[in-house]
Amino acid sequence: FLSVATVLGESARRHPDRVAVVDSGVRTGYRELWAGALRCAGALRASGVRPGDRVAVLLPNSVDFVYAYYGALAAGATVVPVHGLLVADEVAYVLRHSGAVALIGGGPMWPVAEEAARATGVRAVHGLPAGGEPLPAPEPAAPDDIAVILYTSGTTGRPKGALLTHLNVVMNASVIAHDLLGLGVDDVVLGCLPLFHTYGQTCAMNATLRAGAALVLMPRFSGAGALELLAAEGVSVFMGVPTMYHALVEAAAQDPAARDDTAPRLTLRAAVSGGAALPVAVLERFEETFATQVLEGYGLTETSPVATFNQPQLGRRPGTVGHPVWGVEVGVADAAVEDAVVLLPDGGVGEVVVRGHNVFAGYLDDPAATAAALVDGWFRTGDLGVLDEDGFLSIVDRKKDLVIRGGFNIYPREVEEVLVRHPAVSEVAVIGVPDEVRGEEICAVVVVRAGAAVTEQELIAWSRERLGRHKYPRIVRFTESLPLGPTGKVLKRALTAPSAP
Ligand code: ATP
Repeated sequence: FLSVATVLGESARRHPDRVAVVDSGVRTGYRELWAGALRCAGALRASGVRPGDRVAVLLPNSVDFVYAYYGALAAGATVVPVHGLLVADEVAYVLRHSGAVALIGGGPMWPVAEEAARATGVRAVHGLPAGGEPLPAPEPAAPDDIAVILYTSGTTGRPKGALLTHLNVVMNASVIAHDLLGLGVDDVVLGCLPLFHTYGQTCAMNATLRAGAALVLMPRFSGAGALELLAAEGVSVFMGVPTMYHALVEAAAQDPAARDDTAPRLTLRAAVSGGAALPVAVLERFEETFATQVLEGYGLTETSPVATFNQPQLGRRPGTVGHPVWGVEVGVADAAVEDAVVLLPDGGVGEVVVRGHNVFAGYLDDPAATAAALVDGWFRTGDLGVLDEDGFLSIVDRKKDLVIRGGFNIYPREVEEVLVRHPAVSEVAVIGVPDEVRGEEICAVVVVRAGAAVTEQELIAWSRERLGRHKYPRIVRFTESLPLGPTGKVLKRALTAPSAP
């Protein structure tokens, strides 16, 4: 029997008195956390939740999220963490589609949770379920049982429910904790990524609890807030998406205290980036400011999430996403052949495919999407990448973000890397906009650094000097900020919408 609940249960047995979670300065130890999860499991059981049922959770980053997540798992239920920014109709869709029997909601999301529950007839619980006797021990699970259903954010249409098994989640948490970061009981991990999303959930929460380390929760990210917590809590490992790296570097630049010797940078021993491409310029600035190495990894909801990582034992190469993690295989396949996986020789750009213990079990009630994603024993990621002769994977771009200008494939990411190096550019997203002659034209949407000034012509000239003629952006738009998803990823589809700047 292999259950995600074991991740917390075993740590509670081994390190009962260590701090597990810090929420608004309140410390909860492992013994207490596990006891609370078993109480929650007992209450769910008393209210009629049976093993195999689905329990939805709509809570902010908080110790309650951890109780609810592990409580539902300990009761033998499948957890359905719901995206914190959805509106009631969208939550109702997730509740109906997943067949949830209960929804644990709270914090600022409570009104939405309540409305969605009313619309669907699903029972809503405010805060932690109470009542009944604590469960004496968690329900056993088989490795292939479904532990978690994570709905993809839907940038590719209707949200799909990715089915993650106990094996998927336990293996990924273990690999992250032990192989990738060597987390130990003295580590303090900053949990600023949303826990309802795969990255925060498994890399921050599950891996930290697996290792018996401490997870410092942050409900809402800001550069200045994170900087303060890094120092106050002696954080040793930071995990974030590129926009968070950017915000931290900016916050540190404005905070003279961050530059003296008592600075938080001295307690950071590692930093993990994933979720989107980290511009090398941002990586370099972060490393200089915080005197620590940034290790970039790559993955998706469907790969639980980590598939590749810059691993200390295998070497690090900034700008790449490293090697496949332990027990996982990665290939690059011909993107044009959809019904078979035809691997390309190293050095060719193609669709990244993954197989191993981290590949999900399919999409809930969506055989067509499952069949398109799981082909010949591989998972097709929808990302374009290339493997170099030393086995390092580079993500070139998403298949669907590719811009085709006058018949040439342009990878926006390459253009973004050039623009972000301009001293006046703070952030940039490159997209394709419809063009009568060339099909698509390359457009850079730019946020100018505070106090700096630059013109469209200057940025076009800067790019023209550094990129081939077919690649440099002909259009530059300025904006105050880029539209971000909940994990801090730039939402390119929002930029292409008619209301774009
Ligand atoms: P949806 O699946 O609904 O479109 P999403 O793409 O945000 O939402 P996630 O599973 O959160 O879903 O994100 C996975 C994607 O993030 C990958 O397919 C890849 O495009 C991107 N990604 C993750 N890590 C990296 C990285 N290190 N470099 C470049 N891209 C990355």
